[in-house]
Amino acid sequence: MKNSELFQRAKSLMPGGVSSPVRAFMAVGGEPIVVANARGSKLWDVEGKEYIDFLMSWGPLILGHANPKVVRAIQRQAEMGLSYGLTNEHEITLAELVTSAMPSVEMVRFVSSGTEATMSALRLARGYTGRKYIVKFDGCYHGHGDSLLVNAGSGVATLGIPGTPGVPEDIARLTLVIPYNDLDALREVFERYGEEIACVIVEPVAGNMGVVLPKSDFLKAIRAITKDFGALFICDEVITNFRLSKGGAQEVFQIEPDITCMGKILGGGMPLGAYGGSREIMEKVAPEGPVYQAGTLSGNPLSMVAGIATLTELFRLNPYKELERLTKKLTSGISEILNKKGIAHRINQIASMFTLFFTDREVYDYETAKMSDRELFGRFFRGLLKEGVLIPPAQFEAWFLSTAHTEEDIDLALEKIERAVSSL
Ligand SMILES: *Cc1c(COP(=O)(O)O)cnc(C)c1O
Repeated sequence: MKNSELFQRAKSLMPGGVSSPVRAFMAVGGEPIVVANARGSKLWDVEGKEYIDFLMSWGPLILGHANPKVVRAIQRQAEMGLSYGLTNEHEITLAELVTSAMPSVEMVRFVSSGTEATMSALRLARGYTGRKYIVKFDGCYHGHGDSLLVNAGSGVATLGIPGTPGVPEDIARLTLVIPYNDLDALREVFERYGEEIACVIVEPVAGNMGVVLPKSDFLKAIRAITKDFGALFICDEVITNFRLSKGGAQEVFQIEPDITCMGKILGGGMPLGAYGGSREIMEKVAPEGPVYQAGTLSGNPLSMVAGIATLTELFRLNPYKELERLTKKLTSGISEILNKKGIAHRINQIASMFTLFFTDREVYDYETAKMSDRELFGRFFRGLLKEGVLIPPAQFEAWFLSTAHTEEDIDLALEKIERAVSSL
């Protein structure tokens, strides 16, 4: 079977041949591969070609593909039922794991994706405060909910405009979009709209404009100003939960958000998201409180056992130091290769996630991220793919390592990257 034959068939049946847009490789050019299977740090396409995988399904697979413990937990549960539509014991176990890892989360509601978590968190913030505006940062991605697919209007601290056809202007206008890491814009937006702002939602480390780190006082300033104005602070940890540390970005940066959104690693590769916070706030969620939110497959035991197996293994291994060491070996190797060729670049890295930008300027928000040479990134991506190294097929995304990646994987990847770069 050929990648291109299959992908042509896919295109005739599904928009762009994909179930999620960035998979179509539009941002890098070339034809997408079609995946046959994956295991550990490796992935194979339908032609049998092997890749060292740094895409890792966009973040969930911190234990690598098809981790035996996770797979066995899913198999065992599958024989006992896929979904009950009633409370099961695994939900309680996973809720205990989550709340013990993150002190700011006293109660949690499970949903089926990160998008669902952020949409529900916004509703809860609006229901709790009785206010209408939300503040988000340009370049942060929080899933595809209407209120969150909104771009900055012209000028600083203005009302948002629809980020896609299908989002009504009336809805977009309720989202205030300001630059990441910009404390002046944050203050300004609260001066103008403070009494009507329900919440600020942020990626504590941005991963969806490429990796962009928060400046030292950024997250603490959001915490302080939301508290002053009676707005809620929503920390979207869908990428960072269990990636940066056991307690996520909120542990690393020592902040206490009001609501935390979770996903990706939480489900270990199964569809799973969650939102949670203090008892006082979460008691506003139906049926305990008035803010409605529900889901047929929410809390299904398959996703629950995958999450439990993933977190249990992760907490047992406590691999964060070793993951960061391997990640730094890869990033410094890449830098060395690019420096030898005189190719300007910046690598933003934290824990086991990073982004390589082709720019000579510091990248600290979406505007500076967009300075990256995306045509060069496309050639770099295609060169790596040809060599058998799979990275995210777009500039504004993060590379991920897992506990399945070995020293040899990194050495081999660097050899392949050097070959690809030599013919750029
Ligand atoms: C991936 C992601 C989402 C959306 O999660 P889905 O499961 O794709 O709906 C939301 N927020 C952040 C920060 C993410 O990285």
